[in-house]
Amino acid sequence: MQTSKYNIVSKVKDSEQWFVVNSLSGQADILDRATYLQLQKGDESNPELVENGYLVDPVQEKKLFHEKYLRFLDDREKDEIQIFLVTNYSCNFDCSYCYQAGYEQLPFTLSKELIDSFFEYIGNEFTGRRKYITLFGGEPFLNALRHKENIGYIIQKAAEYNLEIAAVTNGYYLDEYIELLKGGKIREIQVTLDGTAGMHNKRRYLKGGDPTFDRIVHGVDLLLGNRIPVNLRMVVDKQNIGNLPDLAQFAIDKGWTASSLFKTQLGRNYELHECQANHSKLYSRLELYQDLYDLLKKFPHISQFHKPAFSVSKFLFEQGELPAPLFDACTGTKTEWAFDFTGNIYACTATVGKKGESLGTFYPEVTKNIPAVEEWQDRDILSIPKCQTCSVSLICGGGCASMAKNYNGTMNSPDCRPVTELLELGIASYFNE
Ligand code: SF4
Ligand code: SF4
Repeated sequence: MQTSKYNIVSKVKDSEQWFVVNSLSGQADILDRATYLQLQKGDESNPELVENGYLVDPVQEKKLFHEKYLRFLDDREKDEIQIFLVTNYSCNFDCSYCYQAGYEQLPFTLSKELIDSFFEYIGNEFTGRRKYITLFGGEPFLNALRHKENIGYIIQKAAEYNLEIAAVTNGYYLDEYIELLKGGKIREIQVTLDGTAGMHNKRRYLKGGDPTFDRIVHGVDLLLGNRIPVNLRMVVDKQNIGNLPDLAQFAIDKGWTASSLFKTQLGRNYELHECQANHSKLYSRLELYQDLYDLLKKFPHISQFHKPAFSVSKFLFEQGELPAPLFDACTGTKTEWAFDFTGNIYACTATVGKKGESLGTFYPEVTKNIPAVEEWQDRDILSIPKCQTCSVSLICGGGCASMAKNYNGTMNSPDCRPVTELLELGIASYFNE
């Protein structure tokens, strides 16, 4: 017997206790000092350490790893596919941090022919798979007549194909789009607010600088009033994190958080393709969660608005068990694809529209770059040397392929997540009693 390769052991933040999380055995425990020392020594006299898979026979552990890997691949074949459709890269906003600001204007527009080809392609390619479409931009809900007609056509065709539609929008023209949305099968609309009025308007303004907060708030009210689910996203960095308690209170006072149709996400503002104007504002993943941990302690009402994941801590707290081992965190070309109005196909939203990243075309003709698709599909923690010996691999899953390529020049390389540190914070935050 020896200690499992997949034990993640550390001290709970601000506590005299330790924790062990083992994603392969599916077990997690809070440990007192004596048990922690037993585990460190590999002391088999404590039967629970063996029963919970923290002390293992390495041959058996390898076998279990392979069994669970095959199950992961099988399950993923049955997972739903999220198909992004970028209807345009243009936008009516000029957000202070937009990573798409560097995209060139293209001599293409959305057309009915292209939309027909898109539905034909996804019908053939993903036949028999559960799937839904997410409209994405730029800003997909622009208020130009032809564009609106085309969006209406997509919503109508999706309903004919019995596919749900989601959208990622800045929320400015929701009033103009509500009738179209009422006619579709809408899964959710993601709208971004970066804080209460003053802070939001400082970051997310129209081209020309006019404020946008009031119209977006009205749009969220309209969606919820029409029973359309809202996913409210706050893009956070060091400039606006201090406004989170106020935005949480605002959403509570509006009655949004009491609705079962309302959920939230915090999107970390990070450098993706274009240089951010001011890097010092940006958070690393860990810094963000450290500040969230402190904010939640000081302003507990934030948790009515948003409960941070802290890696798998929230899942463990809410579900009472760990998620299945994650052999691959990157969904690109597996359960996610992105299509754009130029007729190109990409792996995901991180690469969509990026030069050299197209994996094929669906319009005007169907073409596929099979070696490039295979490179994406072959990437997981078994193909990345550093991940093969990493104790947090089954929670990290190797991170994001696109970020890995940005950092290391090749996709088959790690994009490390601070799993242990996030668990230290998250276990303290969720299991403090
Ligand atoms: S490349 Fe990154 S953003 Fe794209 S699907 Fe993979 S993990 Fe997600
Ligand atoms: S990407 Fe880094 S942290 Fe994640 S599994 Fe690989 S080596 Fe571990």
